[in-house]
Amino acid sequence: LLPGTLGHAGQPCTLGVLGGGQLGRMFVQAAQRLGYACAVLEPESHSPAALACPQHIQTDYADPQGLAQLAQRCDAITTEFENVPAEALHWLAQQRPVAPSAAAVALAQDRIAEKAHFSACAPLSGVGPAPYAVIETEADLHAVPVTLLPGILKTARLGYDGKGQQRVHTPAELQAAWQQLGQVPCVLERLLTLQEELSVLVARGRDGQMVHYPPQRNLHRDGILALTQACPGRLAAGLAERAVAASRLIAAQLGYVGVLCIEFFVIDDGSAEGALVLNEMAPRPHNSGHYTLDACDVSQFDLQVRTLAGLPLVAPRQHSPALMLNLLGELWFDAQGQPRSPDWAAVLALPGAHLHLYGKHEARPGRKMGHLTLTGPTPEQVHATARAAAAILG
Ligand code: ADP
Ligand code: MG
Repeated sequence: LLPGTLGHAGQPCTLGVLGGGQLGRMFVQAAQRLGYACAVLEPESHSPAALACPQHIQTDYADPQGLAQLAQRCDAITTEFENVPAEALHWLAQQRPVAPSAAAVALAQDRIAEKAHFSACAPLSGVGPAPYAVIETEADLHAVPVTLLPGILKTARLGYDGKGQQRVHTPAELQAAWQQLGQVPCVLERLLTLQEELSVLVARGRDGQMVHYPPQRNLHRDGILALTQACPGRLAAGLAERAVAASRLIAAQLGYVGVLCIEFFVIDDGSAEGALVLNEMAPRPHNSGHYTLDACDVSQFDLQVRTLAGLPLVAPRQHSPALMLNLLGELWFDAQGQPRSPDWAAVLALPGAHLHLYGKHEARPGRKMGHLTLTGPTPEQVHATARAAAAILG
């Protein structure tokens, strides 16, 4: 689907996205820059993606009429989050090219299936998931080996930003936590002591061509990504190579088309570099890749557009070290809990500060309202700018 051409309906070639969040917004912006028209299917009236896109189909993700309209208007369709019903993608794929596939999204939607895929790839990738047990019944709960405690109980579905997770230390706590989570299918993972967290973004085309970004380091607070550090060269070379090789293998084994993010833990195994553990994957661009918008010649959203439209993929080049700070809703409140507006003018006065706000109307603690990427000539300078920005934001 070449940009600037006419699509199947005689309209400008149109790319569609299921979901109206910030990832959809940045996909739309990247597609529009290439001259594509876009359509967003999203039930909310004021969503970040719909604000950036004149064609908004406001229905539920599973609504047959909404989906039919999306297929009618679009020449190819993607998704911006993994919790759209896989059946919706499956149906759309019978009408139009869809990437990623319903099968890949279904796998990433379900921690049980995802971990099974990671385990199946482990002999080849050399990296496996944390020790875990599947809990679907009362009997599973009682069969849990004590070696998995202390652990983290995670719902198999619909968790994000640390939601749907509870830390448990004893069998009694585990039992209580499973009750509290509604006795839905879960995985219990052993609580690991993390040296650090990494993620790798790969993009894979329909023809199997693959490109990737070097691993970035992520810092989470309360289960939510707070900061991403993208300073290649700062990471042990062997660790970075292993993480990239495992990510590419996992994408290839899935026959994946689109942008895929794989999250890793680094744990202490007595070696100098530490050992890699697979955490989870996202079948889409990822919060930890937002720095690519400002620090790379091709962003993760550009690659999402290219994989969807069947355009050539090029290996991204990072032209500046970068730090990305998530801007969460608490910044919109003072210490007394009164609403306030962060001093964006002072932030924008910092050289190398790139502000992205998503247009969300209501700030809530923990809600991702935007992000700030800092770039500069050296990692030291980028860190200094980040400290200055953090001081302004308070
Ligand atoms: P989400 O879907 O909410 O991102 P994750 O499984 O990635 O869920 O967990 C969120 C964060 O919680 C991780 O980035 C990590 O900081 C922490 N975490 C998750 N699993 C473990 C574990 N087994 N051991 C230690 N920390 C963990
Ligand atoms: Mg995660």
